[in-house]
Amino acid sequence: MSFIKRLFCKHEYEFERNIYGDEINHVGGCRSWWRCRKCGKRVLDKSLHWPEPIEMTIGADGSEIHVGDLVERTDPPHRPGVVTHISMYDDGTIGVHVDEAANFHANYSPSLLRRC
Ligand SMILES: [Zn+2]
Repeated sequence: MSFIKRLFCKHEYEFERNIYGDEINHVGGCRSWWRCRKCGKRVLDKSLHWPEPIEMTIGADGSEIHVGDLVERTDPPHRPGVVTHISMYDDGTIGVHVDEAANFHANYSPSLLRRC
């Protein structure tokens, strides 16, 4: 895409992905990437984004996981946390956002979690 087109583009940003872990420090504390659907320009945002909130998912042990549930990872170390959001992404994968004391807003696949 040409520089001139990008310069005059009235950008229409759409969500690309959230940022976790060490990458947060590399992008000045931002939490999500967005891309203009017309010119491809990418920008950062300070907030996490949840594309499609869903009510419930199924954990590793077959139990239902809802927002507000206390959950823990099935693999050590076991650090319980509260589910703050459950999202389904465009490709069908599900992310469970867990507010852990030691790792604020970790994002896990439901297959790594069970209810406490
Ligand atoms: Zn644009």
